[in-house]
Amino acid sequence: MANLTCPACQGEMSTRSQDRVTVRQCAGCEGIFLDRAQLGSLIEAETDWHTYRSTDTARLPRITPDMPAPKPRPRSYVESLFQG
Ligand SMILES: [Zn+2]
Repeated sequence: MANLTCPACQGEMSTRSQDRVTVRQCAGCEGIFLDRAQLGSLIEAETDWHTYRSTDTARLPRITPDMPAPKPRPRSYVESLFQG
């Protein structure tokens, strides 16, 4: 995938991919670029997220004294795409 320059602030855009969705995000202003097909994929992934995921689909971790604090769970596909 070719590098893109942000049209808003001329910052460098990096690629974010997850499953079937790829978008580019500006490091400067956090603007997003995606093509039409990727927008469709993102909407489908978001719909699937809310259709098939629930709070009890993940196994509970083993609790130990030195375990790190849990990360907040993403509430949507889009949130998971831009997390981390
Ligand atoms: Zn920008």
